[in-house]
This record gives sequence, structure tokens and C-alpha cells, in this order.
Amino acid sequence: MNIILLGPPGAGKGTQARHLVETRGMVQLSTGDMLREAKTSGTEMGLKVAAIMDAGKLVTDEIVIGLIEEKLTTETGAGFIFDGFPRTLAQADALAALLTKLGQSLHTVIEMRVDDDALVDRITARSTCSGCGEVYNDKTKPIPADGRCTNCGEQKEFTRRADDNEDSLRTRLMEYYKKTSPLIGYYYAKGDLRPVNGLADIKEVTASIEAVLG
Ligand code: ADP
Repeated sequence: MNIILLGPPGAGKGTQARHLVETRGMVQLSTGDMLREAKTSGTEMGLKVAAIMDAGKLVTDEIVIGLIEEKLTTETGAGFIFDGFPRTLAQADALAALLTKLGQSLHTVIEMRVDDDALVDRITARSTCSGCGEVYNDKTKPIPADGRCTNCGEQKEFTRRADDNEDSLRTRLMEYYKKTSPLIGYYYAKGDLRPVNGLADIKEVTASIEAVLG
């Protein structure tokens, strides 16, 4: 079963994808994570994408489609979770073509609905355990006083993303509404779209997604 998690930055796509990986053995394909990895690798591509990402703009379709194609042909598991991809109509068409080529199909597109004020609050308060990727929030889930991650138990650094600041978030939201939100209509028309309320607490969102996936 291959699914897409669709929604604006901060909608909770990564958190829910991690849950599906743990409970169902699915493979999370996050283009954001792949690009952040490329950014720290010092490769030519990494250098090229770093400034674009930090400013909150979208990286070119060609680069992200290439990254996805490589993973689709090398990773295996109980289906793929596309997290942060596709983000443009060209990427959606490329994904459909890639899946067809591999003899696979798309099961469902889960649209995570969250209002904009909540997104700004979530993102500007967000930090991540550099050991396991567990996500914290200054207001709703602060880093424990002893600095030990509640998920992996390690005392690792808690990092904030370079693009989790108000300026770049505004650009990310604008990119989302201009280029990614048309995908909601695209997948609705195809009959694949299933909306869930991303404003509920994490466990409730998980339950809604489980109910959709069956
Ligand atoms: P968020 O959903 O919180 O904005 P991501 O981790 O998915 O964050 O992506 C971070 C950044 O990586 C984006 O702002 C963009 O620059 C780049 N990026 C990720 N996925 C794509 C994609 N499919 N197409 C173009 N750029 C992407």
C-alpha cells in the first residue's frame, strides 16, 4: 500500500509517517529529510539546495524526482509513505509515471488539514532530537529538564531547523498555497483524497489515519 501525506509545513506529516513506519513496517520517503541529508553532505547538489531550502523556496522538480526515483528502486517494505512529495503538479505526474513503471499504484492521499495560525505556532516552537528525530514543542511538549530524549533515552543535542523561522516559514506557506495546494483538487478529482483533522492531538490524528487506511 503506497500513500501520500499531503499538507502544509507543520501539519504533522513527519510525526504520523514515523508512526506508520513503526506499526506497519512501511518505508517513509521524506524529500525534506533527503534534501537535509544532501545539504550536510557537502556534495555539489547539497550546496545547490542549501540556500533554496533555508529561504523556504521549493527545490527544482528534477532534483526531488531524481531522489524519489532512486529510493523507489532501492528501498523495500510494506509500502511507501510519501511525505513532503509530491509538492507540485509536475511531481505528481512524475510519481504516477514512476509507480506505473514499477507496476505499483497509489492507495490513498491523506490530506492533513490544519489552520495557518496553528502552523506558525507549531513551527516556531519546534525542535528535534538529533539522535532519533523525535519532535518537541516548547509549549506542548518541552525538552525534558535532564536533556534526555523521551523516545531514545539519549542525551543528544536538540536542534532547530534552519528554515523554522518566521521569514522562511512565510515563504514556505506561500510556496505551499501557490504550488502544492492545487494537488488537493488534483487528487480529489482522481478519487484518492481522504481528509483528516490535523488539529486534533497526535493520537487522535493517528487514529483517524488508521481508520482511513483500514
Ligand atoms: P516542511 O513540510 O516542514 O516545510 P520538509 O522537511 O518537507 O518541510 O521540506 C523542507 C524544504 O525542503 C522545503 O521547504 C523545500 O525547500 C525542500 N523540499 C522538500 N520536499 C520538496 C519537494 N517535493 N519539492 C521541492 N522542494 C522540496
